[in-house]
Amino acid sequence: MVSGPGGVGKGTIARLLVERDGRLWLSRSWTTRPQRPGEPDDAYVFVDHDTFRSHIEADGFLEWAEFHGNLYGTPWPDAPDDRDLLLEIDVQGARSVAERDPAALLIFVDSPTRSDQAERLRQRGDPEDAVRRRLAEGDRERSRAADLAAIEVINDDLARTVEEIASLIEARRGA
Ligand code: 5GP
Repeated sequence: MVSGPGGVGKGTIARLLVERDGRLWLSRSWTTRPQRPGEPDDAYVFVDHDTFRSHIEADGFLEWAEFHGNLYGTPWPDAPDDRDLLLEIDVQGARSVAERDPAALLIFVDSPTRSDQAERLRQRGDPEDAVRRRLAEGDRERSRAADLAAIEVINDDLARTVEEIASLIEARRGA
């Protein structure tokens, strides 16, 4: 599981991890959040609230959580047995998954500084109030992640960060 505050680059990191490691299988989450301008169509399965709620009632999610008024959920994965599941989820979701599977690895990717994080959020077009909310949520996520003994990785350089996470995954496979 890869978690971290908004704007830290989790999506890019997850994509690069899958590109370099054919054993990883990236789950595509569902969300009720509207698609951002420029966001790829396959970033999520974008659905309305009713569709999401019906899927909860049909027991369609491994986990789901509410984040800033939107719902996000991991559908039950249909990964082949020989693949390792990669989830890019918030820390609340990571906690539910860790309860089901204590062997799951939780990596919390953080920005070198809060101002780096704010800059990335602005660059992707988040309005100022969203930037403030995401910074505050990031602070809460950081402390929840510490409670779960997540492994912290600082995204100071994308290639190095991906390398570090790939090594952590390899080490867990060998453990
Ligand atoms: P964003 O709106 O920036 O794409 O995502 C907001 C937050 O929701 C991020 O922390 C992201 O990791 C998390 N998230 C994305 N998909 C899921 C999911 O399926 N389950 C949970 N619990 N969180 C998710």
